[in-house]
Amino acid sequence: MGARERGGRSDTEAQPLCLRFTKTVTARETATPKDSLLRPSDLAEWLAAAGLGGRPSGLDEELLREARELRESIYRAARAIAEAREMDGADRDRINDWAGRNDAYRVLDGAGVTWRFPGSSPARSALAIVAGDAVDTLGGLRAGTIKVCAGTGCVAVFLDATRGRFRRWCSMSTCGNRAKKDAMRVRRAQ
Ligand SMILES: [Zn+2]
Repeated sequence: MGARERGGRSDTEAQPLCLRFTKTVTARETATPKDSLLRPSDLAEWLAAAGLGGRPSGLDEELLREARELRESIYRAARAIAEAREMDGADRDRINDWAGRNDAYRVLDGAGVTWRFPGSSPARSALAIVAGDAVDTLGGLRAGTIKVCAGTGCVAVFLDATRGRFRRWCSMSTCGNRAKKDAMRVRRAQ
């Protein structure tokens, strides 16, 4: 049992798995942050969309709580790196603990690659994959610089892998587009 990994096309989807996970909270520094992981089924859907959808067994309220804790640890750790601060030891420990629980592996399925989840809780294994990706990404194994989005109130973390490291927004289709429109409005007003 496993799920096909999907090749992302948009600039957001091209982001590392662990940073896409942190983006399940948006508008973090506004009066109305939005968390799209409110129910266990939300997490099941996210994992499936990320190509990590095994059997949804064992995905309950408790695992959702742990998943959100892991997500926030990844967010804080990534933000610390982006702001050249030392990451919190508890966040680092949580990411490492999760990464160490990974018992999933990938196989060739003839058309691409599929995750296999041999353990008793595929959802737990899927989160361990996300944590392992955080180890790689935050540990500097991917080319690019971790940055905080310059969009108003967004503060999403993203990996800038452009040649000149000039990227300022988590996504051109949301924050980048909004900033462009704002700049245009200012020019027109002048
Ligand atoms: Zn943004």
